[in-house]
Amino acid sequence: MHYNFFSPQQICFGWNRFQEVGQRAAPLGTRALIINGSRSLESDGVLDELKRLLLRSNIESEFVRTISNEPEVADVDQVTNILQHLGAGEGDFLIGIGGGSAIDLAKACAAMVTNRESDTVLDYLEGVGQDLQLKQAPLPLLAIPTTAGTGSEATKNAVISSYSPAFKKSLRADQMIPNLVLCDPKLACSVPSEVTARTGMDAITQLLESYISCRAQPIPQALCLQGLKLALPALAEAVEEGTSRNARECMAHAALLSGIALANSGLGMAHGVAPALGIHCRIPHGLACAVMLPATLKTNLSVRQKEYAEITRFIAPELSLSESEAAQHLIDKIEALNHRIQIPHNLASLGVTRTQIPDLVASSRGNSMSGNPRELSDAELTQILEDLL
Ligand code: NAD
Repeated sequence: MHYNFFSPQQICFGWNRFQEVGQRAAPLGTRALIINGSRSLESDGVLDELKRLLLRSNIESEFVRTISNEPEVADVDQVTNILQHLGAGEGDFLIGIGGGSAIDLAKACAAMVTNRESDTVLDYLEGVGQDLQLKQAPLPLLAIPTTAGTGSEATKNAVISSYSPAFKKSLRADQMIPNLVLCDPKLACSVPSEVTARTGMDAITQLLESYISCRAQPIPQALCLQGLKLALPALAEAVEEGTSRNARECMAHAALLSGIALANSGLGMAHGVAPALGIHCRIPHGLACAVMLPATLKTNLSVRQKEYAEITRFIAPELSLSESEAAQHLIDKIEALNHRIQIPHNLASLGVTRTQIPDLVASSRGNSMSGNPRELSDAELTQILEDLL
């Protein structure tokens, strides 16, 4: 056995623990620069409360930006400029509160404000620009996730989009893992059901893809099993009854575990194709993952039957099934869950057309696809996407 394991330095998880934000954040600095990911958090008074709780611990704060789209190169560059104008440096830290979009924007800007070899993040993204590496440590970062989906609070990358030219790529460095994660599942109660469904399926996809990845490792696999046992029974309840404490807790915990897992083990075909569906067809990340998940499981069944069966036996030990039956049971369960929470079963209903498939295939070859347990040729991936129309 041979592995490295990364995770955030500190995780504070629990219902209503948002109230502790001041005392928890105090070691990070004396001024917080806040990036918010939801207008609801503003209108519900959560941001005002955040500032008040910080001040009680003698932390000044500046509200920097609300982002309601998946972050683009221009967003990172603009917010980094704002941070520079605010004189961000020693004693300051960033807070990303919201879904993956806000946390990724905060992560990227915390890194870009201390690394100025180029004035655009494009030059630091994987596979585009000048391929610059971070040389300076980012400003400290507190991540407060609210969507129970991406697990970005526990990963070492920020996903940044561009529509012209079209790419969705990561800024990635070990130092980008947030210093502190404050995960209060209560903050997700205001997330609409449709967003709960798709972000929750993102977490489930990450747990499954990390478990079967060709870079799978023992600690993340243990976390994946735990996460799947929590999430698979809870997601429909979170979608249908958004204020359910049990469902929101299970989903927030599963999403956090999925982030730790993917940061160590990588992902697979669903997360390979999802960025392509994002930039070419404007499909939200979680929805793209959800639609791609059943096909991903079927595509990899021939080389991961044992692992699918292990998952079924862990989450449903009462079932007495052969290995092949247990593996098929997992695929059936995912399809049934997608159906129950109204995730479409094909790409055509999301507006994807046959003429887009060559671009989708070409844009799917990122870091995530390299974790898929089977290598997929362009011809095979084309066929898979055509079958999904
Ligand atoms: P998101 O952050 O875009 O949020 C989805 C929607 O939920 C938005 O409209 C937002 O305003 C709303 N929302 C968030 N919190 C809310 C709340 N408390 N109440 C009401 N509404 C709320 O979606 P996401 O799926 O969490 O993040 C997607 C982004 O994360 C994509 O860019 C994706 O590529 C990226 N991602 C990053 C990683 C990583 O490791 N860095 C992993 C997976 C995905």
